[in-house]
Amino acid sequence: MRIILFGPPGSGKGTQAKLLSNEFDSAHISTGDLLRAAVANKTSLGVKAKEFMDEGNLVPDEVMIGLIHEVLESERARNGFILDGFPRTVKQARALDEMFKQLGITLDGIISLRVEHDEIIRRLSERKTCSSCGRIYNPHQLKADHSETCPYCGGELFQRDDDNPETARHRLEVYLKQTKPLKDFYRKAGRFVQIDGMQDIEKVHEAIVSILHRNRFAAQNGLK
Ligand code: AMP
Repeated sequence: MRIILFGPPGSGKGTQAKLLSNEFDSAHISTGDLLRAAVANKTSLGVKAKEFMDEGNLVPDEVMIGLIHEVLESERARNGFILDGFPRTVKQARALDEMFKQLGITLDGIISLRVEHDEIIRRLSERKTCSSCGRIYNPHQLKADHSETCPYCGGELFQRDDDNPETARHRLEVYLKQTKPLKDFYRKAGRFVQIDGMQDIEKVHEAIVSILHRNRFAAQNGLK
């Protein structure tokens, strides 16, 4: 499968991308994860990106476009991919369209997750991330006796620096200003579907999968 998952921070893109990646054996490509790894390893990309990330701002388009180009051309993306966190600006979306053309890639779907703003801030400030496998948990998913370790792999759980309430609010503003306009860009291109991201994780997953199957069926049968 070749999918773009779109939505504000905290809408569940990362969680859904992991489920889809397992189900369809496609690479989960999270630009946020790639950048966090670069920051941790102090690579030149990490050094460039860090201050933008700490403030909750977007890393410049040229840097991100170069990064995603490299990943899409790599072996990792060969069997399909779930793009989580890219594109985030119209400029990135246009560059991505060009890359798809060049590489002969057609998408199976562009899925947008819709979540209310108050819920986004609540989710971001409460969630914990596993330092080992990157899975994300809200407090209800963590049993009292496991609250500091990942139920999946036992890794240590932590709160991301940019998930503090102030930076989370700023990230939402950045989304509304710079990323939300992409909805119109993709609506025009067709195959853009919005899903209610306030539902349970399993319900959202089922809704995405059924859209992807419907899109595949339509593409294989020449239907719009
Ligand atoms: P995320 O994990 O997707 O919420 O991303 C964390 C941070 O990484 C964002 O707040 C941005 O600073 C940066 N980032 C991730 N993806 C992009 C992108 N496509 N364009 C610009 N900045 C990005």
